[in-house]
Amino acid sequence: MLFFSCLAAASLLPYLQMAKVAINLATGAIQQEELIVGIDLGTTNSLVAYVHPETRQPAAINDLGRGAIVPSVVHFPPDGSSPLVGNEAKDFLLSDPANTIYSVKRLLGKSYRDLGQHAGQLGYKVIDDDSEGLVKIRVGERFYSPIELSADILRELRHRAEHALKTPVRRAVITVPAYFNDSQRQATRDAGRLAGLEVLRIVNEPTAAALAYGIGLDPSDEKTVAVYDLGGGTFDISILRLHQGIFEVMSTHGDTWLGGDDMDRAIGEHWQSIFNLPNTFGQVPALQQQLRLAAEMAKRYLSQHDDFTTQLLDGDEHVYVVTLTKAEFNALIAPLVERTLAACRQALGDAKLTPASIDAVLLVGGSTRVPLVQQEVAKFFGQPANNSLNPDEVVALGAAIQADILAGNRRDVLLLDVTPLTLGIETLGGLMDAIIPRNSKIPTKAGRQYTTSIDGQVNLKIGVYQGERDLVSENRKLGEFVLSGIPAMPAGLPKIDVNFFLNADGILRVEAVELRSGTRQQVDIKPQYGLTDEQVEQMLMDSLTNAKQDVAARLLIEARTAAEQLLYQVERFLKKNAEHLEAVEITTTTAHTDLLRQALAGNDRDLILRRMDELDEFTRPFAERVMNISIKQAMSGKQIG
Ligand code: ADP
Ligand code: MG
Repeated sequence: MLFFSCLAAASLLPYLQMAKVAINLATGAIQQEELIVGIDLGTTNSLVAYVHPETRQPAAINDLGRGAIVPSVVHFPPDGSSPLVGNEAKDFLLSDPANTIYSVKRLLGKSYRDLGQHAGQLGYKVIDDDSEGLVKIRVGERFYSPIELSADILRELRHRAEHALKTPVRRAVITVPAYFNDSQRQATRDAGRLAGLEVLRIVNEPTAAALAYGIGLDPSDEKTVAVYDLGGGTFDISILRLHQGIFEVMSTHGDTWLGGDDMDRAIGEHWQSIFNLPNTFGQVPALQQQLRLAAEMAKRYLSQHDDFTTQLLDGDEHVYVVTLTKAEFNALIAPLVERTLAACRQALGDAKLTPASIDAVLLVGGSTRVPLVQQEVAKFFGQPANNSLNPDEVVALGAAIQADILAGNRRDVLLLDVTPLTLGIETLGGLMDAIIPRNSKIPTKAGRQYTTSIDGQVNLKIGVYQGERDLVSENRKLGEFVLSGIPAMPAGLPKIDVNFFLNADGILRVEAVELRSGTRQQVDIKPQYGLTDEQVEQMLMDSLTNAKQDVAARLLIEARTAAEQLLYQVERFLKKNAEHLEAVEITTTTAHTDLLRQALAGNDRDLILRRMDELDEFTRPFAERVMNISIKQAMSGKQIG
């Protein structure tokens, strides 16, 4: 199934209409202008902020006095009622870990293979039914994508904003870590759409943080700034330069698997070994969570005090007293802090700067409240690190300012970002040829000229990749397309221009032109893992309909749709490639498709899925073989199918 589905082209139709008129729910008055909010969709905590229309000041939205911080946790009550989000959900981390999803941002836009050994570290089930596709999370009988779960969080933020501001909220700026790749950015966008938000811009978190500090708002300012962001799950260091009202990110570095969670884990492991906790603390989900939460409590406490003591219960009336001193804590986290400094060193190197050329260091993220972090960062940069704004809120505040800029309220500000990873194409021998190097400012455009390597070659397959490695096989494939209709010429004669256009969101369009003939091909690179608009729409519909009772029906429909697609692809493939197939391959495939069709006549979802698997398993080997033949033919100058 995988093999065929990746051949199917996704159509891209915008379906989300912009709201034209906004009505103030409190007064019934029609609003002139809709508010655009800024959202920090964090691994651990999320916030929504806006710029007050009168005071022009950014503020985090604190609905009903519950606090502005909404933990990025979603809990699914066993009775099937709608999911809880935030602190209400966080309470269930302990009592019902399997149905309580946290750190979902770590899974966003990722396949099971991307996760590697990290998949097992979460308290809930991450499904590996297909190591190449997007991960799913299993809650009870249902499967959720990280996009749907992120949408739950965004929807909660939107509702809080609407409730607190008493106005509809339809448009937002959402922040992401600076080095989120294309599929992660796209996944964030999809989550926004699913939550009913038009995402006007995806902004890098450090860029937003700098804006919150007012850097970039005075056009006469000239500054080079380092933004050090240590959150719960991700670490980012970015070097920004402000010059003539233009805000430029000179370099970024970081680690999506480094943050306060790692400190908590280090404390938990320390306690397990020092206080001889029973193994159950590392095995039973509820006990694991208890350990995790106690460790986090210790960490926070030690930001202000020198000694921490608490009790852990193993469920059998045994009490374990555990302690942690500040010195012990510092020793435990020193290697983590050192890893962040190594990234700082790299970022400075990329920007060709020394610590002395940094005018200001900004601290962002809850984990920068740890005194050792503050000290070490200050020592590294040779200057005090600025933490005058609440490190939990700065990113959301900056997103709100960016939203305000996009709303046209601050015309004097312009923002430039950088692309976090090199973008390039595959050339002979599976080599990566960089077209837009990492840390290039965006929006940007770059291109190179290529030619053919074989006489009479009329097709050129262009594979687009993202990453820093020399071999494309070690980088991430974003997509591929074929430039066909090149006039047959001796090798080396055609002139093929390949141009990359990267927009302000970091989303790529690739264009190839054969200059002698004018043959042209252009594609928007949709990440491999991105959802089609139909899928998003389907999910949106699902979330509107009464979810619980429709589950079975929906799952059946999904299976049917997938089966129909598979049948279509397989039959098309048989027709096109009959000459390359053996008779028995064709008859056996037809027998399989007949069985699948019979299954489709009934309502047994499992049977449909099983028949699909069988069909896929049988056809995959020769489908791959035929693909290779087609590619060889293309290379030897014959037309593909
Ligand atoms: P993210 O951006 O990943 O959502 P945040 O910036 O909200 O994360 O930071 C959350 C992290 O900050 C958590 O690991 C939390 O334990 C940590 N944190 C919050 N307050 C403190 C504190 N006072 N001392 C140490 N760590 C803290
Ligand atoms: Mg953050």
